[in-house]
Amino acid sequence: MGDQDLNPALLEDQGYQLTGKHSAVKVCYWTAKALTEGRHCYKGRFYGIESHRCMQMSPSIDACNLHCRFCWRYQGWEHEETLEEFDEPATILSRSLEAQRRLLSGFGGNDRVDPERFRESQAPRHVAISLTGEPTFYPKLNEFLALCHDRGITTFLVTNGTTPDGLRPWAPLPTPLYCSVTAPSRAVFRRLTLPAQEDAWDRLTESLKLLRDLKTRRVIRHTLVKGWNLGWEEEYAALDRLAEPDFIEPKGYVYMGRSRQRLTRDHVPTHEEVGGFAHRLAGLLGYPLVDEAPDSKVYLLALDPSRRWLPGLEPARLPDLGRTVEGDMLPMLVPGLAASGAPG
Ligand code: SF4
Repeated sequence: MGDQDLNPALLEDQGYQLTGKHSAVKVCYWTAKALTEGRHCYKGRFYGIESHRCMQMSPSIDACNLHCRFCWRYQGWEHEETLEEFDEPATILSRSLEAQRRLLSGFGGNDRVDPERFRESQAPRHVAISLTGEPTFYPKLNEFLALCHDRGITTFLVTNGTTPDGLRPWAPLPTPLYCSVTAPSRAVFRRLTLPAQEDAWDRLTESLKLLRDLKTRRVIRHTLVKGWNLGWEEEYAALDRLAEPDFIEPKGYVYMGRSRQRLTRDHVPTHEEVGGFAHRLAGLLGYPLVDEAPDSKVYLLALDPSRRWLPGLEPARLPDLGRTVEGDMLPMLVPGLAASGAPG
């Protein structure tokens, strides 16, 4: 299964910088935008992540058990469970930081880039572990997260949710921890994500139940593909109730990368269509709709702050639910990190 084998030349052509046997860094579109135009991705608006100080990487570049039709990546996955041979976390982190600096070095001579912003970009304060592949397949992910946190770098991780055994022993936890829920039912999940394992859907629902008790900021993302998984709000609400996440992000599919060979532009929902879904889901769950980012076709639903897990959250800094969140009300920082200016 999959599109074709991954190989270093192909990956480097795509802008990935390999940092070991199974890890890579790629400069995010929004990192470049933040440097040249001062514009930040919706994670800046929602969670206070500064795009120019964010390093997008993966410790599992050639490992995933799904073959999502909407995935931007090549899918010639070499591993569909776990990595048998792997690099040490310290090696991956130091090579990733070097690669990010190298990839951004050209911005230093760009007249449109503020020198202070460029200087800050050379010392990432946040790692987005979301580039490609399933990060929980890396057996030393725990150590990698701890190493980042020790260096004052916060972590943001996206999992496809099919590895509950990978979630159980986590300490420390990333903030936020994202879990993708991209289907309302087993049948749609099978058609849309083409899982390698028969029980992938059961594993996802098991992960959602585990998520409920993980003491970090937990986010469920629904990537919505028109004609495939957009709709079924009651079914999505039932899944979301299993996890009772702090935030829910309904987000429209973007016609990009390799997904253009599996889907068409007709599968891209409008921001308003995503909004209709978000409003219906919000009503079913009793989660107020607190923000939106039309550039990324994404909405934000939030659990009442008094019911959130993350220890040490300062309610005064949280958005007033029920109305649009404005710039200086964010970020929702963890005390301690707030003092260092690190994104949450
Ligand atoms: S889980 Fe993520 S990396 Fe794996 S196929 Fe789906 S979108 Fe791509």
